[in-house]
Amino acid sequence: MKIENTIPCIVCKTPLQNLEYESQNGSNVEVHPMYGLHFTSYGHYGSTIFDPMGTGEKLDVAICDKCIMANLDIVRGTGRESLEVLKDLFADVESK
Ligand SMILES: [Zn+2]
Repeated sequence: MKIENTIPCIVCKTPLQNLEYESQNGSNVEVHPMYGLHFTSYGHYGSTIFDPMGTGEKLDVAICDKCIMANLDIVRGTGRESLEVLKDLFADVESK
């Protein structure tokens, strides 16, 4: 069953359309934002607030595409280069 709701961008608080559903492997997907990306953390050593040590607990957040593009200079990962080519196009669309 698919449930439509909203989740705010953790940076700018813009509400994003969100879809909750059961994936093909049977796990529940709680965060699948439109016009944004979803990030999951199972915690890790180094955090002073969340390190559940293998309990399966997790945190899910959404960040809107606009905030990703506005902060692209501090984004890391192998997909970053493909976003660099979109930066000018995205800026043009946002200014209209
Ligand atoms: Zn945002």
